[in-house]
Amino acid sequence: MRDSRLDPLFAAATSLPGVGPKVAKALARLLPDAPETGPRVIDVLTHVPTGAIDRRARPTISELVAGEVATVEVKVERHQPPRTARAPYRVVVADPTGAMTLVFFRANAQFIEKLLPFGETLWVSGVPELFDGSFQMVHPAHVLDAAGLAKLPPVEPTYPLVEGMTHGLVARLTRGALDRLPELPEWQDAAFLAARDFPGFRSAFEALHRPRRPQDVEGDGPALTRLAYDELLANQLALSLVRAQMRRARGRATTGDGRIARKILAALPFALTGAQTRALEAIRADLAAEARMLRLLQGDVGSGKTVVALLAAAAVVEAGRQAALMAPTEILARQHLATLELLAAAAGMRVALLTGREKGRERAVLLERLEAGGIDLLVGTHALFQDEVIFRDLALAVVDEQHKFGVKQRLALAQKGAAVDVLVMTATPIPRTLVLTAFGDMDHSALDEKPPGRQPIDTRLASLDRLDEIIGAIGRAMESGARVYWVCPLVEQSETLDVAAAEDRFGALSEAFPGKVGLVHGRMKGFDKDAAVERFVTGETPVLVATTVIEVGVNVPEATVMVIEHAERFGLAQLHQLRGRVGRGAGRSTCLLLWKGPLGETAKARLETLRDTEDGFVIAEKDLELRGEGEVLGARQSGMAVFRLARMEVHGELVRVAHDDAALILARDPHLTGERGQALRLLLHLFERDSAVRLLRAG
Ligand code: ADP
Ligand code: MG
Repeated sequence: MRDSRLDPLFAAATSLPGVGPKVAKALARLLPDAPETGPRVIDVLTHVPTGAIDRRARPTISELVAGEVATVEVKVERHQPPRTARAPYRVVVADPTGAMTLVFFRANAQFIEKLLPFGETLWVSGVPELFDGSFQMVHPAHVLDAAGLAKLPPVEPTYPLVEGMTHGLVARLTRGALDRLPELPEWQDAAFLAARDFPGFRSAFEALHRPRRPQDVEGDGPALTRLAYDELLANQLALSLVRAQMRRARGRATTGDGRIARKILAALPFALTGAQTRALEAIRADLAAEARMLRLLQGDVGSGKTVVALLAAAAVVEAGRQAALMAPTEILARQHLATLELLAAAAGMRVALLTGREKGRERAVLLERLEAGGIDLLVGTHALFQDEVIFRDLALAVVDEQHKFGVKQRLALAQKGAAVDVLVMTATPIPRTLVLTAFGDMDHSALDEKPPGRQPIDTRLASLDRLDEIIGAIGRAMESGARVYWVCPLVEQSETLDVAAAEDRFGALSEAFPGKVGLVHGRMKGFDKDAAVERFVTGETPVLVATTVIEVGVNVPEATVMVIEHAERFGLAQLHQLRGRVGRGAGRSTCLLLWKGPLGETAKARLETLRDTEDGFVIAEKDLELRGEGEVLGARQSGMAVFRLARMEVHGELVRVAHDDAALILARDPHLTGERGQALRLLLHLFERDSAVRLLRAG
């Protein structure tokens, strides 16, 4: 499948020189995004420096400048072993222009004597500081003889590290990985490279791992920018190929007569907003067209996407066909069903639910009905992808909270019918550039208008130190009938720890409010989860302690207080989502963001953004600015494209360029068979867009 020239890059990193079991362990910690089978050479190669130390300066002692890295030739004059255990070991060194002191804390005397033999002439490299009017160097980074100096890289890259890794070690590994990098044909346009002053692929990695100037490793320098562009182009090509594939199968025109939609509208206790009407018109036009629909419906929390989905489904049901609505979690699927059921029933639309939980006879009957056309709209989770799920005539697939699903699943669902139209809904407002990186040039509708009558949510920041006070306030709110969500911190990336934290808080709150507190988390069985949410809905337990399982979609209009513990640990988009769980009913709502100090500048700015605005798009832009795209999309958790090298806050400008470039490339060479096309296939493999290459073959 993959060109064998790339094999050395996809070999296990343990094949690199100097990687024993201990280093391998540290390496796995260093590269957490590597596959579960362990880091590969390419993962090491793409672990790029975040800075560089320039060791080219060779001043004399009299020319030293405090704080500026210097490499100085000196003679060892005097050893001053420490007089007390706490005192440092000092070594006085000199050149013809003056003397300075090398300082070693907790040093082994024998080691220092061997490192700096008395009377020897050596090179020391480090950062000089002024101390009592003369220079000292604390723990010089290098002490070298002439031969060692000849090997000292003039500019030393510095890498993000973890315990058990040093810069030296990472540098050795990345250089080992560099040696495995094959000579590959250029896939970028020569004129483009020249115009941007970009190096070749290999030279770019050379520049990063063996920099000659500190600029070589800069995020917006030519080397990293070239590689980021490679990655963005691979991404855009892959998206275009998927899109082309989905469009290749000709669509079918589906036109409803409006009879079901009219009944639903009559049953709704409200009128559609302008934004909902516009989105629906666009969707109906897509459905009615011969071409296949692939549309993204973006709308902030509470903007009313569900109704739009239902009315879209109504249009295909009117035409005698079927629709599916897929949600990322079981809770959400059930909630959708509960909302839709009543409205659908009023309009004579037959709705059913399929998740992993429907089993045995019940499931068999449901699947039979589906295949016979006895179900108009099937709501569910991933279970909808399974092979045994056969529709009589699926016309529309609505995918809710899309970014939790990958491209693969999107295709799987779309393949369940002849030319299925796809509507993707996301509640995480995504900045423009990211829409492009995540979805390519999908058609796009935004619900940028909230339903009327929404009360603003009073958002406050408070230190977790004031917990007692807060619990008191919660108690008072409960007395006046409030329903309270209490969301527990995301600890590391570990679900077990999350659950433990939630259980602790549940215990503590239960002591304060016996019998009034419920608990829901991802490790609970489906039925128990439902029961916990149900007791919250009925008010039996007016406090619901939860992990982020309540993040998406849960709709309890009576809930008016949202407490988020350790808010500083959440992504902004996630906080925004969580906050969106309140403010859904008539009552005035409050959101308390509890933080644990000390708060850094960025963390503080993020929480303040949330306090100051409820506009999801503003929040998303701000989050991007403050933290970068991986976090904005919660990409790590969601399995959505995270970039290895490209960073939106630095390389965002190139997304559009890559997008247009990909379109041009595929217009000229749709199957990537030409010379450049072949090279581009290598690029797709390099950035692991293998499924896109498979599409090429199929096409
Ligand atoms: P989301 O976009 O977050 O999925 P929902 O579809 O769950 O939002 O809608 C949130 C709430 O707003 C629901 O209770 C829904 O009934 C209500 N709603 C939807 N559209 C309107 C509207 N046009 N006017 C008033 N309320 C609406
Ligand atoms: Mg929703």
